[in-house]
Amino acid sequence: MPFKYLLHPERFAVWADGQTPCHFCAQEKHCFDGKAFQGSEPITAICEECLLAGKLRDVDTYAGEGDIEELQRQLQERKPDKSVKAVSKKAGEITDDLERTTPPIFTHQNWYWPCAGSDYCAFLGYGSKSLFNRLAPDGDGLDFFLNTLYYTVEDLSDVDELWEESLPALPITSLAAAKEFETLFYVFVSQKKDKVVTVWDRR
Ligand SMILES: [Zn+2]
Repeated sequence: MPFKYLLHPERFAVWADGQTPCHFCAQEKHCFDGKAFQGSEPITAICEECLLAGKLRDVDTYAGEGDIEELQRQLQERKPDKSVKAVSKKAGEITDDLERTTPPIFTHQNWYWPCAGSDYCAFLGYGSKSLFNRLAPDGDGLDFFLNTLYYTVEDLSDVDELWEESLPALPITSLAAAKEFETLFYVFVSQKKDKVVTVWDRR
């Protein structure tokens, strides 16, 4: 099922084991694991249909947290004539979509979901040398990786060291595989697919 902010839910979303009753429709289905959501109203599980239908909008339960300040800045930059109030309302709506209709992903730490081009990016998968080499137009993965670092991790990153010592060589194709790594790289693409953004963290 298509999720705007998560490209491969079958591989990278946090699913509950087996068939579970959905908190909202009560049907036994393959659901997302409620424990992977944040907020003050815990749920046991939610199915794809209910998540897409926006059932989380009525409860204090959400997945991830958007970088709303940066989103607001980008929206304002694109439309300088719009009032701060209008821009802030728009940023709030987009952030609500991200946080209430996106399946949870696994991360070591909590950080803000990146945005680019006045919208949140879509999570593509976990980074590896293989992935960056494939995404790089000229095949130079290291140089490409350097240019994808989100501003929040830019200053923290010794790019050569990360590339040599922390980036897995082979593609990470499942959540189970990702969990093995102490350092994880989260690779996102902008909605227009013209920009790749990377965030990383450590266990
Ligand atoms: Zn449901």
